[in-house]
Amino acid sequence: MSLEIQTFILGPAQTNAYLVADTQTNQAVVVDPAWDGGIIVKETVARSWKITGLWYTHAHFDHIGGAAEIVRLQAEDLMIAMHPGDLTLWRAGGGGKLFGLEIDPGPEPDRLLSHGDQLEVGRYGFEVRHAPGHTPGLCVFYCQEENLCFSGDLIFYRGVGRTDLPGGDWGELEKSIRRQIYTLPPETRLLSGHGPETSVGEETVSNPFIRG
Ligand SMILES: [Zn+2]
Ligand SMILES: [Zn+2]
Repeated sequence: MSLEIQTFILGPAQTNAYLVADTQTNQAVVVDPAWDGGIIVKETVARSWKITGLWYTHAHFDHIGGAAEIVRLQAEDLMIAMHPGDLTLWRAGGGGKLFGLEIDPGPEPDRLLSHGDQLEVGRYGFEVRHAPGHTPGLCVFYCQEENLCFSGDLIFYRGVGRTDLPGGDWGELEKSIRRQIYTLPPETRLLSGHGPETSVGEETVSNPFIRG
């Protein structure tokens, strides 16, 4: 009985979508329903889980492209959480046009996040930490109890998020990584938007872009 995380690598940008469930209550959320929502819903049905929320680290199209299908397949009581700083980007289809990829973004987020908010999946609490730079509204979701943080496209294994897209800002990104990631305990697992898992301790020492 614990917090279980299933990782899916989906869509044209090979984005990590995380299905996060409290196996005692069978409640689940999807952090970044990247693409192919049907694949994620199929997994939840097989495990008798129920998706109660979609949490967006940010509004880029490759992180929200599966949302409309999830909502279509499982519409009741589903909350969509995002920081309002990314609403403009969300309304522009997540910027997919730049890449020739237009998506149906699904329903507009109905839970607008602020820094310091608490989100829950079953008995597990996640702290919302606003960390702009890759996009204006990017947030990471930190669970102290489980020592893990969903970091979106803020920081990756030996990498950081790009800042050359609309709304990106290198100075903000650097500040966000130092204040919202490198202040977490070194053993904190970082589950990011692309690529393999890493940890705060590893990146403070080995990240080639921003050293702790
Ligand atoms: Zn992104
Ligand atoms: Zn991404």
